[in-house]
Amino acid sequence: MSSTIPMTSPAPDGGGTCLNILVLVKQVPNTQAIKIDPETNTLIRDGVESILNPYDSYALEAATRLKDKLASIKISVLTMGPARADVVLRECMAISADAAYLVTDRRFGGSDTLATSYILSQAIRFVQAQEGRRFDLIFCGKQAIDGDTGQVGPQVAELLDLPQVTSGLACELAGDELLVVREMDDGTEKLALPLPGLVTFTKPNYSLRPPSARRKLAAKKLDITTISADDLEGIDRGRIGLKGSPTRVRKAYVPPAKTGGVIFSAQPIEESVRQLAQLLVDRDLVVNVEGDAP
Ligand SMILES: Cc1cc2nc3c(=O)[nH]c(=O)nc-3n(C[C@H](O)[C@H](O)[C@H](O)COP(=O)(O)OP(=O)(O)OC[C@H]3O[C@@H](n4cnc5c(N)ncnc54)[C@H](O)[C@@H]3O)c2cc1C
Repeated sequence: MSSTIPMTSPAPDGGGTCLNILVLVKQVPNTQAIKIDPETNTLIRDGVESILNPYDSYALEAATRLKDKLASIKISVLTMGPARADVVLRECMAISADAAYLVTDRRFGGSDTLATSYILSQAIRFVQAQEGRRFDLIFCGKQAIDGDTGQVGPQVAELLDLPQVTSGLACELAGDELLVVREMDDGTEKLALPLPGLVTFTKPNYSLRPPSARRKLAAKKLDITTISADDLEGIDRGRIGLKGSPTRVRKAYVPPAKTGGVIFSAQPIEESVRQLAQLLVDRDLVVNVEGDAP
């Protein structure tokens, strides 16, 4: 499935053709503010603040840090969503993005992660063909804080036949490769990703830069390229929207809030432990407090 468009020659030494980076971003409800409709058990989206998915801001910062070292890098951002998702694209342009693409069409509504990834990969192919050059790097968030599946980045990489690294923390260019420090359960590891490739990013231990006032003003006037289903000529209509989504949500419910709980705060700590052990005995959860540990 690899594109026939030739790869841009990366120029880590600062000369010649610039590196072309695409950051996939998603507008998500601010989960701090989410409310559930008790009748339907669905999210109440009306009036809920929308924000740039935090993990996508880490991906954008990683791209921006590469650009700090190599000014000729071009950063583009792309989102699939409703027309109002242009807000997050402008937010990215106010930080560092040079170009923005909004993939929007009612026919995309109801897409599950597989359909979403398919549409995104088709849109990426479309932009590459329009621009006559391919993206050397595609950066994503590790997960979106609403859907939370973490599937889109890896699926897009598969659909575009690209090598991928997940849970990136930081990266640097080294010749034709990107060295990525990635998070693991018990530490970190460093992997060399051949270009073109895709990286998903998790929360780094450094701060993100805020948008500058000058870029904020400029971003308001910048053009955003809109892409619809009709633009994606070769797209398989059987793989988009609700009908093209194999996932079926059988039931959605709000988990019951945990109630009760006992806090043991007696001092010294041994007294709290004694009280806890007694409670376990009283509730028939252990048989012996005095002897060996249950
Ligand atoms: C059956 C079903 C029906 C659905 N119907 C709808 C619906 O009608 N309307 C709706 O809004 N959602 C719908 N969704 C949710 C939608 O499928 C997901 O929001 C979407 O697939 C992304 O998945 P995620 O949020 O788990 O992303 P993750 O895989 O967790 O995201 C990882 C990264 O992928 C990138 N990414 C993810 N989504 C996008 C995007 N849209 N644009 C650009 N980059 C992206 C970002 O970099 C993000 O950080 C539905 C889901 C299912 C399962």
